[in-house]
Amino acid sequence: MTIFEKIINGSIPSFKVYEDEKFIAILDINPTRTGHTLVIPKKVKENVLQEDSITRSELFELSTRISNNLMDKLNAHGIKWITNVNSVAGQEVFHTHIHLIPYYEVSIEPEANQKILNLIKMV
Ligand code: AMP
Repeated sequence: MTIFEKIINGSIPSFKVYEDEKFIAILDINPTRTGHTLVIPKKVKENVLQEDSITRSELFELSTRISNNLMDKLNAHGIKWITNVNSVAGQEVFHTHIHLIPYYEVSIEPEANQKILNLIKMV
């Protein structure tokens, strides 16, 4: 079972930004920047290339909604989307996810996830 399945089934805690019947979005436990969020389909596929086209397009639509919310609530100036495929490209968790990483004109240390969650929670 992947770490994200354990988060989805509630056996380990997370900072949950969004959830519906097909997807969950959580704050990354080790954020690169304040508000670093992972958008994850609940049904396990190893990476984004393994997803069916409907799920992949829903994943992109949801990532757009969440990105707009992050930019708005955190006053970010930019955002980077990353999805790693296979360990050679840096993938560590073999369960599809997109990293949404907000960027700020002034570089600051990432803020504590609990404080950020209160600003951006969509559920
Ligand atoms: P990747 O290298 O693309 O597979 O990214 C996996 C990401 O999952 C990393 O950025 C980790 O910090 C993150 N991660 C691992 N365990 C957890 C967890 N329990 N809660 C939130 N994020 C996690």
